[in-house]
Amino acid sequence: MRIGVPTEIKDNEYRVGLIPASVREYVSRGHQVRIQKGAGEGSGISDAEYHDSGAQILDNPRDIWENSDMIVKVKEPLPSEYDLMQPNQILYTYLHLAAVPELAQVLLEKKVSAVAYETIELADGRLPLLEPMSEVAGRMSIQVGARSLERSAGGKGVLLGGVPGVLRGKVVILGGGTVGTNAATMAVGMGADVTIFDVNLYRLRDLNEMFNNRIQTLYSNAENIAVAVRGADLVVGAVLLAGARAPNLVPRSLLKEMQPGSVVVDVAVDQGGCIETCKPTTHAHPTYVIDDIVHYCVANMPGAVPRTSTFALGNTTLRDGLAIAQRGIEVAVRSDSALAKGLNTYAGCVTHPAVAASLELEY
Ligand code: NAD
Repeated sequence: MRIGVPTEIKDNEYRVGLIPASVREYVSRGHQVRIQKGAGEGSGISDAEYHDSGAQILDNPRDIWENSDMIVKVKEPLPSEYDLMQPNQILYTYLHLAAVPELAQVLLEKKVSAVAYETIELADGRLPLLEPMSEVAGRMSIQVGARSLERSAGGKGVLLGGVPGVLRGKVVILGGGTVGTNAATMAVGMGADVTIFDVNLYRLRDLNEMFNNRIQTLYSNAENIAVAVRGADLVVGAVLLAGARAPNLVPRSLLKEMQPGSVVVDVAVDQGGCIETCKPTTHAHPTYVIDDIVHYCVANMPGAVPRTSTFALGNTTLRDGLAIAQRGIEVAVRSDSALAKGLNTYAGCVTHPAVAASLELEY
């Protein structure tokens, strides 16, 4: 199969669809890989590295799109790319089609087989191609929280790990899924005093075991949250109700009871946030202050560390990408139910029920 990787053109997107190690895997199985010149630059990957791993480097995105059976990307195609998409092409990327109905129309008209990373779903409901970005965001949440606690950043001037003879910083994590667990890993590593909330008791048991009792787990209810948040230096919002808006777990009245200079990092901001005063911010202006509390609410946290994010994504997209290249989209999808859930459009039809429902199209 001919695989093409254009440079990402979305604003502030520095990731790239394939890493050199993945190129090598495709090429060693007899596939051809074409990468746009400079596509890896934002992630610190040079054209020479791609060339050495067996890719052909092309200058013009049109040459990539027109000469590829499968396009491997990071973000959904933008309007300037609609024209470049080829009939019956395979598109393998994050799509979030519900948010861009006009792109869905183009995919249907061109009979593109579009596989969306975010809807590939394992039998137990896990979303393996979203997990690496949650891992990155979870780990980053403590890094940016610690930075925001510094006096010069508007924080109260607390070092999360404390020092011998001085109290550790108190970190409260709302939600013990992928983001929450990774946040806890970093916070524990820095020596903080960590409390983690979830409504899923099985999850809390697992966390207790995983951290060998080094963290406090608490059932998530308004009373427990109020006590913990009042005394917290750093609160991380990491809840997810699949497909729904995040629940409001920290009302403004509770925020007012926190000590001035405390910090909230609402990672769940992309689902509306679980801290009432949260509103999306950007990497250019990541924080703001309400009621003397520093808020960090960047909706695309992995964008700050594109190199790590690109490699994390590259590791997880390889398996299914190779399956498609080796077997063709039809056989690959028929023989893997998780990958089948990733298929959003095929032969001019919407093939994912939730995507069809949100676009009000036939399924
Ligand atoms: P996940 O499904 O792995 O974990 C969510 C957890 O929240 C689950 O354990 C669930 O039981 C728990 N939960 C649900 N309701 C709760 C409640 N009322 N109180 C406490 N816990 C509750 O999800 P995840 O991958 O960890 O993602 C968490 C959020 O982070 C999502 O909104 C996701 O979209 C977002 N996210 C944001 C960024 C960013 O850049 N801002 C990046 C990655 C993920």
